[in-house]
Amino acid sequence: MIVKNIRPRGFCKGVYFAVEKVKEVLISNQHPRPIYILGYIVHNKFVVDELKALGAITLDDLSKSRLELIDEIDSGTIIISAHGTPIEVVQKIKSKDLNLVDATCKDVYITHDLINKYLVSGYDVIYIGKKNHPETNASLSLGKNIYLLETLSDLKNIQTEKPIFVTNQTTFSIKDILPIHKAIKEKFPDAIITEEICNATRLRQNAIIKANKDVDLCYIVGDFRSNNSRNLVKISEMFTNTKSILIQSVKDIDIKDLKNVHKVSVSSGASTPEYLTNEVIEFLENYTN
Ligand code: SF4
Repeated sequence: MIVKNIRPRGFCKGVYFAVEKVKEVLISNQHPRPIYILGYIVHNKFVVDELKALGAITLDDLSKSRLELIDEIDSGTIIISAHGTPIEVVQKIKSKDLNLVDATCKDVYITHDLINKYLVSGYDVIYIGKKNHPETNASLSLGKNIYLLETLSDLKNIQTEKPIFVTNQTTFSIKDILPIHKAIKEKFPDAIITEEICNATRLRQNAIIKANKDVDLCYIVGDFRSNNSRNLVKISEMFTNTKSILIQSVKDIDIKDLKNVHKVSVSSGASTPEYLTNEVIEFLENYTN
């Protein structure tokens, strides 16, 4: 089968930084044990399992808030994931005298700095992002006057006389955000809008739009919890009209999907280890219909 190997793909600088940070902590004797990671360090189960094998304990009970998870810990080191975490969680970690290691991506902090700057200047903030995602929760924790806008229909609930600043989750879809910005401008003509999709997300989304002009099928290798991976599938389907499937590894390929497929493209989310994508590519290159 002909396989189009889409690039760039795979680990972005923020994911690389976070994973390396955990490994550094695990080999150093300067950080008190046990070593906990608050939530998935990045949204990929294979990465989480690899770090578990090296000794890190991931606190990941989706029925509990991050504050509740910290409540249960009395000693050791807490590593904040690449997505960041709410301010009150950081305060609780400090108040319990736990050792804090921050692996938040710098691009997430750029958005936080912008939000803080406009809140201090008396603006209300509209944050475009996915509800309950850790990055969204971290951004919403920065102040009271932040409205979450997940879909266009949320806009009708936003009523304010204050000046408006608009920003977004770093892994949002480049195509979805434009109509949202347009609708916000119609309702709040003076709104200041910045588009904070990170460069890694932008490059990966654009590469898929460019590559999928002439393929029969596209596989995105990524975790089902990964927002950027799910958005790659969405972008591919919506803007290139290509059937696109999210798989976590080569084991998820269903050969029924390969019937009548001659050319397939493969990309991956920003938190997907390269070996998983290479296994998918190798399988497809050796597959004949
Ligand atoms: S996807 Fe973007 S914001 Fe998220 S970790 Fe990577 S570089 Fe940072």
